[in-house]
Amino acid sequence: MTRIAIIGAGFGGVAAAVELLAAGFGDIVILEKADRVGGVWRDNTYPGCACDVPAPLYSFSFALNPDWSRRYPPHHEILAYLQRVADEKGVTPLVRFGAEVASADWDGRWRITLAGGGTIDADVLIPAVGQLSRPAIPLLPGAGTFQGVAVHTAHWTPGIPIDGRRVAVIGTGASAIQLVPAIAGRAAHITVFQRTAPWTVPKPDRRYGRIRRALSRRVPALMRLSRGATWLLTLVPGAALHGNRTVNAAVRGYAWIQRRWQVRDPALLAKVTPDEPIGCKRLLFTNAWLPTLARPDVDLVTEKIVTVTPSGVRTADGADHPCDVLVYGTGFAATEFLVPIRVTGRDGRTLSGEWREGAHAYLGLAVPGFPNMFLVYGPNTNTGNTSVIYFHEAQARWIAQAVRAVAAGDDLEVRPEVAATYDSEIQSRLSTTVWTACQSWYRTATGRIVTNWPGKAAEYRRRTRSLTRSDFLPR
Ligand code: NAP
Repeated sequence: MTRIAIIGAGFGGVAAAVELLAAGFGDIVILEKADRVGGVWRDNTYPGCACDVPAPLYSFSFALNPDWSRRYPPHHEILAYLQRVADEKGVTPLVRFGAEVASADWDGRWRITLAGGGTIDADVLIPAVGQLSRPAIPLLPGAGTFQGVAVHTAHWTPGIPIDGRRVAVIGTGASAIQLVPAIAGRAAHITVFQRTAPWTVPKPDRRYGRIRRALSRRVPALMRLSRGATWLLTLVPGAALHGNRTVNAAVRGYAWIQRRWQVRDPALLAKVTPDEPIGCKRLLFTNAWLPTLARPDVDLVTEKIVTVTPSGVRTADGADHPCDVLVYGTGFAATEFLVPIRVTGRDGRTLSGEWREGAHAYLGLAVPGFPNMFLVYGPNTNTGNTSVIYFHEAQARWIAQAVRAVAAGDDLEVRPEVAATYDSEIQSRLSTTVWTACQSWYRTATGRIVTNWPGKAAEYRRRTRSLTRSDFLPR
């Protein structure tokens, strides 16, 4: 019996488990440090949290959901969906909750050590810890002296006091632009600290009514149609990102119209006008962000933060911005794959050592020197315009083939030269993308893009459709 250990019970881990169960593998354990299935959708509960990829596509192809309440549902619906799929597909009983992995060592099989003590042996290791699971909190001078409540968006709890409080939010990325409109009007005052103006475009959100939901239940083909239409919709930002000048200009025009329409104050308009190329950071879909910034009880501050004080935030112009609650909407340490898990492969080589210059993996799935380790949502498998779940499913299908080979007595270790050639290709293609035009969570400090896939999603699916045995070292 092939023993399989998956790390993480988010969308990626569940995708892998479903595929492996369907392929007939039953000896699976999912090691999950939290107490529930859910990944980022369990961890992120800040007000306004939702997915900016339409639900018909941000869902599993094998579990289309007729019950979405809207095109961009709130996070609790997505979490409930994922947990339901995990239950229905028999994944939840495989999860060992409260099992945080400290290290994994290869000595002919994987020995996994848990932070709380205990070890697990497995023939196959499948890290599925995601790219956005470790919050990044900047080390601002004075941060420790703050007397109010300080919280990262991903650490939000229901007890965070908002009503009638002065709230400061650092950051204007995907998380902050959802949070701020959701708490405006509840907070006494909100100060938003913006370092870089994000590109925003209207969010084509809509409610899914009772009739649509009933029809979807009766005629599942309608859901496939909707998924297909959503797929086509995502090709538009995709084309803009991938260098189609006409589409790029059209999307910029759309953003320009939104800004002009929603912001009448010239000073605010100047502040919210991006000066980086569109798409070099994630393009944000929102209808509420700019009108919220225009509210009299919301200030947008673009001065640099110099220090946090016991009572608030001080900026470079000497102004003090008092607050009771300080929210870090400052994103995630996305480039530090698998940290803090210590992974040691063949001949004592460590993953952190192999990835010193930036993470890389063949197809985002396999790393030379680390036999029988297959990553879900590994390096260079993030997408700037479509659903990562599509990528997870492609990875899961490829992994099922790899596990079949392992079950047949093989150890699968990708050839170093195959991985190196692949990495050169990916990096060379990335070097001409818009993502090189600014610093973002896609890039390491040295500028290497380690998170994103350079092509179309369909290309990724094609390249991962069948495992090529000759890409791996001989038995
Ligand atoms: P993010 O996109 O990395 O944004 C972080 C923000 O914090 C940026 O505005 C950044 O400014 C700012 N920042 C970071 N350090 C700072 C500092 N020291 N001083 C001042 N400002 C600082 O993080 P995020 O908003 O959490 O989103 C991360 C990713 O999560 C998204 O790109 C998306 O993929 C995912 N997400 C998705 C959804 C969804 O709807 N699907 C929702 C939330 C998040 P700069 O721009 O100048 O760096």
